[in-house]
Amino acid sequence: MIQENISLKPYNTFGVDVSARYFAEVNSAEELTETLKHSNPQTPKLFLGGGSNLLLTKDFDGVVIRLNLKGITDEIINENEVFVTAKAGENWHQFVMFCLEKNYGGLENLSLIPGNVGTSPMQNIGAYGTEIKDVFESCKVLNLETLELETLNSEQCRFGYRDSIFKQEGKGKYVILEVTFRLTTNIHRIDVEYGAIQSELEKMEIINPTIQDVSKAVINIRQSKLPNPKEIGNAGSFFKNPTIPLAQYETLKLKFENIPGYPNGDFVKVPAGWLIEQCGWKGKQIGNVASHKLQALVIINATGNATGKEIFDFSTMIIDSVKEKYGIELEREVNII
Ligand SMILES: Cc1cc2nc3c(=O)[nH]c(=O)nc-3n(C[C@H](O)[C@H](O)[C@H](O)COP(=O)(O)OP(=O)(O)OC[C@H]3O[C@@H](n4cnc5c(N)ncnc54)[C@H](O)[C@@H]3O)c2cc1C
Repeated sequence: MIQENISLKPYNTFGVDVSARYFAEVNSAEELTETLKHSNPQTPKLFLGGGSNLLLTKDFDGVVIRLNLKGITDEIINENEVFVTAKAGENWHQFVMFCLEKNYGGLENLSLIPGNVGTSPMQNIGAYGTEIKDVFESCKVLNLETLELETLNSEQCRFGYRDSIFKQEGKGKYVILEVTFRLTTNIHRIDVEYGAIQSELEKMEIINPTIQDVSKAVINIRQSKLPNPKEIGNAGSFFKNPTIPLAQYETLKLKFENIPGYPNGDFVKVPAGWLIEQCGWKGKQIGNVASHKLQALVIINATGNATGKEIFDFSTMIIDSVKEKYGIELEREVNII
């Protein structure tokens, strides 16, 4: 059923109040295809998962389609691997919990990331040293040009850092309907190298962690560091960590000797949060919008009344000041609509 003039405030974690000209929820691939067949091809479409990685800057004069497809299946493929397939509308964290209950390993470092399974390939979600590309097998998509179903493998998805074909040449071309992961059943690869996982496990007095322990440690760290969107509107990291040429990094190091960097070949990844903090933004509020007091990379709807335009303008001020001080141009990770 297509509704008209619906507020999108409950459907985006920034809590921005804009409206959709038309709004529909679909529960299956067939319902999606039917909805598309009945709508004018010229009418703009916005596909919605959990709304945790977008900034709505104005009313949407088109049809917003919320993907509510549900279901999880698993298929053991050998003595140590299983294919687990989840439909697009499954909540990501609940899906990770489902896998951990079955003792399927590979997603534990990605616990508590908001959003839905169907969106996870969009920006190749990642946290604590893991990205979905590490365990991704394939995804089923609807090609919006042909209205045919297709299956894309990892190579075809062209995963990169917070990037994939769905944000590049395939932007607006595909709707992801389900995702299949290749997970482990017995011998798991425990990865506790990144961030504070190891020290959190020590706090928990765990020496030989299971995948479930790693998940608990990640959950503890995330809860202590990141604002809960149910309490303070936000979309997680607003910017990507920039990657700059080694030579540029070395020049910056002469002037800013504490600048952190993670070398990768001829390039260096610089933490965006550090750059933003050094420019004096951490905890700073302008009008209804602020940079979070514990994590400068997270922009928040501080009063609950921010408009998308205010949040966007705040992010532009951050980009400008980082560019002025360091000559580095930050790129937004959040999808601007
Ligand atoms: C507190 C917080 C912490 C976060 N931490 C992380 C983190 O650690 N790592 C990380 O990678 N991300 C993180 N994020 C960002 C976000 O959770 C992920 O990007 C997530 O995958 C977004 O899913 P969603 O369903 O909410 O997407 P939405 O916001 O609903 O959609 C995002 C974009 O994808 C499009 N889209 C949605 N579903 C589909 C589909 N099925 N097919 C095609 N296009 C689609 C939308 O049109 C939109 O452009 C965080 C966000 C918050 C609020």
